Amino acid sequence: MNATPANNVEPAEIVGHFINNRDVADDNRPAPITNPATGKTTRHVAMASKATVESAIAAAQDAFPGWRNTPPAKRARIMFRFKQLLEEHAEAIAAAITDEHGKVLDDAMGEFGRGVEVVDYACGIPEMLKGEFSRNVGPGIDSWSDFQPLGVVAGITPFNFPAMVPMWMYPMAIACGNTFVLKPSEKDPSAPMLAARLLKEAGLPDGVFNVVNGDKEAVDTLLGDERVQAVSFVGSTAVAEYIYNTGTRNGKRVQALGGAKNHAIVMPDADIDNAVNALMGAAFGSCGERCMAISVAVCVGNEIADSVVSKLEAQIANLKVGTGTDSSTHMGPLITKAHHDKVRGYVDLGVEEGATLAVDGRDLVVDGYEDGYFLGPCLFDNVTQDMRIYQEEIFGPVLCVVRAESEEQAMQLINDHEYGNGTCIFTRDGEAARYFADNIQVGMVGINVPLPVPVAYHSFGGWKRSLFGDLFAYGPDSVRFYTRRKTITQRWPSGGVREKAQFSFPGRQ
Ligand code: NAD
Repeated sequence: MNATPANNVEPAEIVGHFINNRDVADDNRPAPITNPATGKTTRHVAMASKATVESAIAAAQDAFPGWRNTPPAKRARIMFRFKQLLEEHAEAIAAAITDEHGKVLDDAMGEFGRGVEVVDYACGIPEMLKGEFSRNVGPGIDSWSDFQPLGVVAGITPFNFPAMVPMWMYPMAIACGNTFVLKPSEKDPSAPMLAARLLKEAGLPDGVFNVVNGDKEAVDTLLGDERVQAVSFVGSTAVAEYIYNTGTRNGKRVQALGGAKNHAIVMPDADIDNAVNALMGAAFGSCGERCMAISVAVCVGNEIADSVVSKLEAQIANLKVGTGTDSSTHMGPLITKAHHDKVRGYVDLGVEEGATLAVDGRDLVVDGYEDGYFLGPCLFDNVTQDMRIYQEEIFGPVLCVVRAESEEQAMQLINDHEYGNGTCIFTRDGEAARYFADNIQVGMVGINVPLPVPVAYHSFGGWKRSLFGDLFAYGPDSVRFYTRRKTITQRWPSGGVREKAQFSFPGRQ
């Protein structure tokens, strides 16, 4: 392992780690990073050894006492400076996202902006940590609750939002006074590395924010190390459940956000053109690789279903698939060849299962990018609850239309599904919308809003098997997750008063 000072924001040829405010190489197991639009390896990423991860945890542990005692207002000033630097480097970060993830540049800027929103929110940390105070809870006794940081916190993040999802975690964790070790996705690690260098430039002390790249070895080291107090995870449900079970068994506080199958209900009275426009973006934006993507449209009534399907067909015919750097592109490639083949396999499966493939994107080729992992948008009609394409998360540009007879039946489908991340209803009927919002078993609900991703000052999370743990990400829940409550009761006897020993429990005042 060697160290070189961090001095720029250019992606390196081998993406290493960032520990104690320094770039750290660790080239035992370099893994390729591929540009999904070309299928070519552009650089490598170092897969951290156990020793490297332990050195990051040690750096974070050493930094904790000083950072914990840094006044929240001073921590907020570093966040302000970080936000300015992020905005100055927005284009470089978005370019790194498009290069490694494949999403179109506008979309990369969009996710980056939503991540910066959380940094904005973190700038208000002094207000959020003020605690609660009650004077005179008993004769001459005051009581207050304090929200204290936990110590070293780990974050483990997925490939699909390489800038935003880490920013759901570390700005608030750090602002609360914790130190942090981030393990980003090995598929697109450059954006968080760029952010780490900017945090250093913003004045963050050594060891407060560390990035280790890697795979299961790095994750398991974080889960097994007793110095790590809490873990925030976002990724697939199988891994989320593993992280939650392992982390909590090891005594850690864990929040693990998992996969999704988000339904949109289209009611007979909906503004169909608006609903179809919304479905297009929500199903095919970012090639369907969003945990909030709409992958099922439940149309109430056959007339509405026929109309939605034919309008979707017409719009899909005009959807442009291409490289993320082409500003006329609507949808880029999938992340890897393996994921492309998996999503394509689901389209084959849907045909075998008897769904009607209304639009088949399987044979799409992007001229000049024949080795890219492109798949055209696919639309299935007449999908039913027993089909695997309905039950499982596909995470690609595949929209399933299910036909239902009533709002109740449409809602029952959603409530019966194992996932409960996001959902939406398109309607002009306030009563139907209110009933839906009240009774649907899903964590984030849209009413004529297809991607109801909460803003930074609310909190993000799903229900059922879309979230393991009790608290959502960012917003007010993040202050609860990244701090531990301490309640203090104090009395300063005055005037030489002597209390007698009391053997009964202190009663009501
Ligand atoms: P993933 O679960 O494969 O990987 C997520 C992280 O876990 C990565 O850092 C990866 O290195 C690590 N990891 C992978 N396998 C592991 C294992 N066996 N043991 C320990 N660590 C492991 O997810 P992904 O493919 O990167 O991301 C896509 C998934 O993330 C989708 O299921 C999507 O729905 C989900 N996601 C959910 C949300 C949400 O808020 N609920 C947000 C974004 C993405």
